[in-house]
Amino acid sequence: MTTVGDEQSAQTSPAGGKALDVDRLREDFPILDQELSGQPLVYLDTAATSQKPRCVLEAIACYYENDNSNIHRGVHTLSARATAAYEAARETVRSFLGAREAAEIVFVRGATEAINLVAGSFGRAKVGEGDEIVVSEMEHHSNIVPWQILCEESGARLRVAPIDERGELLLEELEKMLGPRTRLVAVAHVSNALGTVNPVREIARMVHDCGAVLLVDGAQAAAHLALDVRELDCDFYAFSGHKTYGPTGIGALYGKSELLREMPPWQGGGEMVLSVSFEETIYNEVPHKFEAGTPNVAGAIGLAAAIDYLAGLGIESVRRHESDLIAYSEEALLAVPGLSLIGRPRDKCAVHSFVLDGIHPHDVGTILDGEGIAIRTGHHCAQPTMKRFGLPATARASFGIYNTRADIDRLVAGLDRVHEVMG
Ligand code: PLP
Repeated sequence: MTTVGDEQSAQTSPAGGKALDVDRLREDFPILDQELSGQPLVYLDTAATSQKPRCVLEAIACYYENDNSNIHRGVHTLSARATAAYEAARETVRSFLGAREAAEIVFVRGATEAINLVAGSFGRAKVGEGDEIVVSEMEHHSNIVPWQILCEESGARLRVAPIDERGELLLEELEKMLGPRTRLVAVAHVSNALGTVNPVREIARMVHDCGAVLLVDGAQAAAHLALDVRELDCDFYAFSGHKTYGPTGIGALYGKSELLREMPPWQGGGEMVLSVSFEETIYNEVPHKFEAGTPNVAGAIGLAAAIDYLAGLGIESVRRHESDLIAYSEEALLAVPGLSLIGRPRDKCAVHSFVLDGIHPHDVGTILDGEGIAIRTGHHCAQPTMKRFGLPATARASFGIYNTRADIDRLVAGLDRVHEVMG
């Protein structure tokens, strides 16, 4: 019997793109080779965290087995090797993001910490009473709460650019909100709850026309889209390693060098200083000024391995593969009785949020888990987005390079099972 999923191997790749050899690359992800509830695992929760290829696991193990040492401060060989590997990882991230200088890349724990750093440093220095920060209605809590804290502390006002029923940002409304009081605009490159890809270049033009700066939350974009921060012309770009096939506890903040140099330090401690006395402390150069304390050296090395892995596949091929999965799954999901997709943006990336008539998303997730299928249910840390659609929660299937059309067929079969169980 031929299932729809089998047709994928017969598909020719779109012009100009090299088709991913997904069967082959799945072998690079040891975790995928297991059964859950007696069924082969189908992992559809990459937006929460991606799985890690073996080369990332090996890079981390190799570092700890051979080079582990504290960086920058040591004169011995291990410290020199660890420092070189850490700074090489910074260069890998620079190239991945298309930044001009490695000094524009600050290693952080992830997108959340990157955004808090900008709110705590740029915000503290540049945002005051009566100023305005603008976010959109599709933001993750990580790109809302740091700005709320800043507004509470500074007397600034948080404004929210609305989205439409498709889940697209209303650009004219955003533009109307921008003015002489706007200091910073913070938007997702890709929405984690809706999959919407925002037109960052166009937003950057509007933001710069009013003299403000643009922070882009790239947590959901970095593993899926070709990135070039200079082309996007954003001032800050934040992403997390663990959503980009790298380890947890590492991510990066890109900041234009002139901004980073002007910004005050965020956290104080070792490494971010050149000299300390009780009379005067002199801060280190960027990016070290923003990296207080011992950093996650192994994490940075693992992240660089993940970026090299993605680059080896070719981001254009990744985008084509995932676009195919999005189109295929949209059609398949819409054929499921009682299913509504939440958010139908014209440019969508790697995520489908949906609800089933009369069935709570948590029940959907629990029954699918019993079928060996991992999806996410809840508000996805985007409660204002849920509110916009009048929902407390959705079910969310999200894709990565290792997913196939057959995984989507399993999801659809699983949703039939949900209907059977829930009557
Ligand atoms: N922004 C978006 C759009 C996200 O999806 C997430 C995580 O789901 C974050 C920020 C926060 O990322 P992290 O928890 O890795 O800091």
